This record gives sequence, C-alpha cells and structure tokens, in this order.
Amino acid sequence: MLNIGCHLSSAKGYLAMGKAAVSIGADTFQFFTRNPRGTRAKAIKEEDVEAFKVFAREHGIHPILAHAPYILNPASADEGLRRLAAETMADDLARMEYTPGNFYNFHPGCHVGQGVEKGIEEIAGMLNQILKPEQHTVMLLETMAGKGTEIGGRFEELRQIMDQVVLKDHVGVCLDTCHVWDGGYDIAGHLDQVIDEFDRVIGLSHLKAIHLNDSQNPLGARKDRHARIGEGCIGKEALGRVVCHPALKNLPFYLETPNELDGYAREIEMMRQAWASEEAED
Ligand code: FE
Ligand code: FE
Ligand code: ZN
Repeated sequence: MLNIGCHLSSAKGYLAMGKAAVSIGADTFQFFTRNPRGTRAKAIKEEDVEAFKVFAREHGIHPILAHAPYILNPASADEGLRRLAAETMADDLARMEYTPGNFYNFHPGCHVGQGVEKGIEEIAGMLNQILKPEQHTVMLLETMAGKGTEIGGRFEELRQIMDQVVLKDHVGVCLDTCHVWDGGYDIAGHLDQVIDEFDRVIGLSHLKAIHLNDSQNPLGARKDRHARIGEGCIGKEALGRVVCHPALKNLPFYLETPNELDGYAREIEMMRQAWASEEAED
C-alpha cells in the first residue's frame, strides 16, 4: 500500500498527530520538532509518546518524519549561528530517541557568500559532531531549490556532504519534488532520467523519503513556492507517476502543500487512487 501522509501541527502532541493522520487516511506524517522560525522546544510528555506508540502500532503509522526548524544554518560563516544549529539539532536527535527508528529531515543550509565548498565542509563537520553510533534516527538532507546561496540544489552537493560524514548509515536524503523541479530537474517530462541521475550521483539506497509537492513556478525557477497537487507547474499526473515509480513506490511520501486537513485528505485519496490503478495494471 502507498505510504503517505502530510505535514501536521505538533502543538497538541504525538497522539493528536497520530489521530489527525488516521482521520485523513494517512499512515504517516511529518511535524516540526519546535517552532520552525525559532529554536524553543516543548518538553516531551512521556505518557503522550507512549500512548502514541500504541496507537501508531494499531494503525500502522510509520515512519514519522521530524523536520528541523528552517531558520537553522549549519553552513553559516558565523560560528555562533553554526553552534546554534548544532546544539538545536543535537537536542532534536536526543528527543527523537523517544520514538526510535524514524527520520529527521533538515535543510543543509546557505553558504551566504563563503562558497559552496566551505559550506559543505561546515555541514559535514556539524553532522560528524552530533551524530552518535548509538542513535536510532537517520538524519535526512533535503534536496533544495537552489534559491540564493542554498546548498543542496544539486545532487552533487548532497553527495559531497555525505562523502565527508563518518557515520554514513546515519544519513540519507529526502527528495522534495517542488525543490528538485525548481532546481531544474524535470520530474514531469523526464522522471526516469532524474531518478537515474540521482542513482548515479547519490545512490538510490540513500533515498529515504519524498516530500510530495506541486510547484507554483516553472522548471528551474529556483523559487521554492509549494502548490497544491494539480494546481502547480508539475501537475497531478506527473506527481502520480512519482508515487507509482518502481524505484520510489515503497518510500514514505509527505505532502507539504498549502492545505488544511480536508485538502490533505483529498490529495492523499488522489494519490492512493493513482497508486492503486497502477498496481492493478501490473
Ligand atoms: Fe523542508
Ligand atoms: Fe520539503
Ligand atoms: Zn520548500
């Protein structure tokens, strides 16, 4: 079965997210570990996590994906900002140990003028500082749109970061369909070629999750403005082919489209239908 969910608010805790997911036909979800524009985190309530785990097992909710605050910049030229990113992400990884066996996604960062190579070194340096052999979470580098000095708009850049990480089985990649499209990878017209290129440069075994979004802008726009499925430049058919692709169909998919719960429910249903009709053909 297609493994799909969406981004949910973490304001009411884990169990509430699990219930919201089930109510919209999802079997996974993504959430912010803390205020996406800040770094303050609420304390984890152990009763909530335990109740969630029971609920998740009953309803087959797995794997959940935590998203780091996007204001963090591990590629910054400023040492204080790099330290803030490292400390916040290390704290998130410690919190993720309450729900072992899941994913933690982050934006690699912006090199803000110091150059891609230096930025990549800083990102890998942070990962080597905060990743511990005993952790049960895989950290995912998100593919980015390549806006401004953003690192991760090219598969090669993610590959270079991963090459410098010591605990290689603790890192993977989350591919965002809006971001790669904005970065110039034509997943609507040439999906097979894009997947082949990902495999050649990074390796498909490192691809752990997909952010499923349409884009408000044309191929290569480098803007990063998400659209609802079928209301953007990628299109519903092309995104349907993404969830059905043999190299991707067993990955978890997370919608980050501008929607409330009812809109997410419709998109999940739409993608489940695409997946089911593809299965029926095989
Ligand atoms: Fe993101
Ligand atoms: Fe994303
Ligand atoms: Zn985005």
